[in-house]
Amino acid sequence: MKDEHYYYLRNTYSQLLKHSSIECDDGWFNILDKLCGNIQSYISGRRKARAQSIKWNRNLLKAINDNSLESFAEKVYSNFKSPYKEDRIKELLDDPEKFLKDVPDKIHKAEVTQIKEKFATLRFYIDSSDPYINGLIQMAESMTETTCAVCGNLGKIRGDHWIYVSCEEHKRDKEI
Ligand SMILES: [Zn+2]
Repeated sequence: MKDEHYYYLRNTYSQLLKHSSIECDDGWFNILDKLCGNIQSYISGRRKARAQSIKWNRNLLKAINDNSLESFAEKVYSNFKSPYKEDRIKELLDDPEKFLKDVPDKIHKAEVTQIKEKFATLRFYIDSSDPYINGLIQMAESMTETTCAVCGNLGKIRGDHWIYVSCEEHKRDKEI
């Protein structure tokens, strides 16, 4: 992979790719860029949602304990429009515990350990994952089955013993 692409990935996804090797050609650069971007925004989105749920629950429980639910409800629904606002406030006062939020599981800091080509397609290894991240990786890996590893144009799996993915233009000479 040329320096420009390599350093772009390393700098843009510095945490994710901190300890990873990147051993593949430039044709898969866009796939890697999108894959890393999706993983990174998923992780930060989950973190933010978790922090917000924890904070909401803490404030709600405090309001229940302090008997200050009315002012809590007024405050959190202050931007809502009538009559939706009044409905929400009533609902909350009727059964405040129903408004406790599920807290998503903690996501551990994920780090990619290795990026390479194996048996013609991309292999992307990460040390911490979940079904969503696994799905993203599987999608990206399968896209490399039809993406020329050299230029990124439409390609297919070629070769006998040493298989690889390329477009017509980047077919290897020895394949006769
Ligand atoms: Zn090509």
